[in-house]
Amino acid sequence: MLAIQMVDLKRQYAHIKQEVDTAIQNVINNTAFINGPDVNAFAVELAQYLGVKHVIPCANGTDALQIALMALGLKPGDEVITPSFTYIATVEVVALLGLQPIFVDVDMDTMTMNIDSLKAAVTPKTKAIIPVHLYGQSAHMEPLLAIAKEHQIPVVEDNAQAIGGTYTFSDGTTKMNGSMGTIGCTSFFPSKNLGCYGDGGAIFTNDDALADELKMIANHGQKVRYYHERVGCNSRLDTIQAAVLRIKLKHLDRYNNSRRAAADFYDAAFSNHPNIKTPFRAAYSKHVFHQYTIQLHQVDRDALIQFLADHKIPSMIYYPVSSHEQKMLAAFGGANFKLPTTDALNQCVLSLPIHSELSDEELSFITQTVLNGIKAQQ
Ligand SMILES: *Cc1c(COP(=O)(O)O)cnc(C)c1O
Repeated sequence: MLAIQMVDLKRQYAHIKQEVDTAIQNVINNTAFINGPDVNAFAVELAQYLGVKHVIPCANGTDALQIALMALGLKPGDEVITPSFTYIATVEVVALLGLQPIFVDVDMDTMTMNIDSLKAAVTPKTKAIIPVHLYGQSAHMEPLLAIAKEHQIPVVEDNAQAIGGTYTFSDGTTKMNGSMGTIGCTSFFPSKNLGCYGDGGAIFTNDDALADELKMIANHGQKVRYYHERVGCNSRLDTIQAAVLRIKLKHLDRYNNSRRAAADFYDAAFSNHPNIKTPFRAAYSKHVFHQYTIQLHQVDRDALIQFLADHKIPSMIYYPVSSHEQKMLAAFGGANFKLPTTDALNQCVLSLPIHSELSDEELSFITQTVLNGIKAQQ
């Protein structure tokens, strides 16, 4: 058995090596490194896949969120509601733009934005809501969108961890994650469900005017070359990354199904264990398991991590410090927010290896070692 990785990109590459190598070589042969034909082709293919009108590729997922907020025309001090239980990028861009992050709690089960907490946080100053489809589980979009609509607040979906996942509304309509809000954002960081071979990101919208604005912002605030209408930034997906993504997009559903199968294996091995709560799969969504994150009860988590490491099994705490407790956000009053579920999750979550190439042999070794590690503490 090879060394187990949190994400095994080498093995994934081995299956698509020929296709990828040829595509990259083509870009080099044509030296169309920036804005080559693959960039637009990928944007069109991804738009089709997601069922959205516009996909605007950009340099990374953090830029995607920043550009989305810039396009909404928010003013310094405007309030933006986000979970604290997320990767810091979601919140960092809010602070960077001089906006006020308003942290809300998450559900213990889905670990995504709690709807009551959201309701209570809306004020006349709320100018955007950023739900995060964390670990591959969709946020509960139907009630969230209803609240946003009632107060006419734009919704920016942070879909960096759940591309390819879906959400089903009570009328039976199913939509792709990232396609439901005013704007959707994603990251193609290598370890994401759809990852490239460097940095990359994209922004989605069905709104024509917003699409023009997003494109302009990502391109130095210009529509016509050298005529700059507003302050923007320089955020591009390079052609080599787009060429790789065009290939991997064709495999995305298979990759996500493999992740779901690995999650099934874990779930079965841990079912009814008194100390392990397996990831909740909300009936309204298709979980795509960017992470397989268990909640541990009455387990010394650090000791278990060490036990796994002793058996060469990596595991991670995503994330050891929640956003509102980060020093970065002290000036924004982060620590004043009371988020009991977020705090509780921080103490008990543990993410186990998950990727598209895990074998049953590896999965049984991991699950057995986790069970042994817990037993050793009792
Ligand atoms: C990865 C990630 C981002 C940022 O993406 P980058 O491409 O690394 O900038 C934003 N939000 C979430 C939830 C993420 O997981």
